[in-house]
Amino acid sequence: MDEEEIEKRIALAAKLIRDSNYIVAFTGAGISTESGIPDFRGKDGLWKKVDPKTATIEYYLEDPSRYWSRYLPENEEKSKGGMGDILSRKPNEGHIALAELEKIGKLKALITQNIDNLHQKAQQQLNSGNCEVIELHGNVVGCHCMDCGLKETRESVINRVRNGELPPLCIREDCDGLMKTDTILFGESLPPDAIMKAQAYSQRCDCMIILGSTLTVYPAAGYPHIAESSGAKLIIINLDETGKDYLADIVIHGKIGDILPKIIEKVKELI
Ligand code: NAD
Repeated sequence: MDEEEIEKRIALAAKLIRDSNYIVAFTGAGISTESGIPDFRGKDGLWKKVDPKTATIEYYLEDPSRYWSRYLPENEEKSKGGMGDILSRKPNEGHIALAELEKIGKLKALITQNIDNLHQKAQQQLNSGNCEVIELHGNVVGCHCMDCGLKETRESVINRVRNGELPPLCIREDCDGLMKTDTILFGESLPPDAIMKAQAYSQRCDCMIILGSTLTVYPAAGYPHIAESSGAKLIIINLDETGKDYLADIVIHGKIGDILPKIIEKVKELI
């Protein structure tokens, strides 16, 4: 897609957003690559280096210490740039542009497949936060005991691991259950509440902006279909083609951090 075509589509997307009253965004791992978090299936995606079976619940339960040992001081250097140092990542221009869209009252909900908490960090940075963030795959900030459900922050669990507690167990006196990240591993069910809300927002929106997802993993990949068949216009912004480009009114192939801020600037000029 050449520059001229991209500019033309940016202008069309801005008009579509101006004319929409109930916008929902749907984001995947691609919106966070510019924050230094690899995606799964993109050009430099994690699945090129790591076996997807390492993200299954079976693999975790087989040897939980293997998962947590990435936080041992001797492994910290090796974990940098991957998922191991995800807590230290910052929102990029794409996350900030979405928070701006929310601030001007256009964005009503944000459905994300991401676990990195960067949408919430962008909301905090811009002091927005009226739009609900629906996390289909959980969040990396928290952990819970698999037996009694006790909550603990990931930071606190990591500190215990750094002090040699492997695998980390529940801190409640009468429980010694295994601690697990609040992110959803392959083989686990998605949170029913998140699925219900994502479905409802997809039905209700009049425009869905889809950013940084191959749109191959279900049920997530089904939301654009629900939105489209309920009458919404679709905008897809992604580096590569997605499995659902044919559904969209506007498709822009390029970097979200370059394109989305330009669209939002134009929207602000138009309203
Ligand atoms: P994916 O890896 O299948 O696809 C990412 C897509 O984003 C690719 O098509 C890629 O070309 C595109 N992309 C990458 N960088 C981009 C950029 N700067 N601008 C525009 N497009 C860009 O991701 P998915 O569809 O979200 O599915 C993967 C699953 O992995 C999700 O369910 C998610 O939970 C999880 N995941 C999350 C994170 C995170 O939280 N940041 C990171 C990796 C994986």
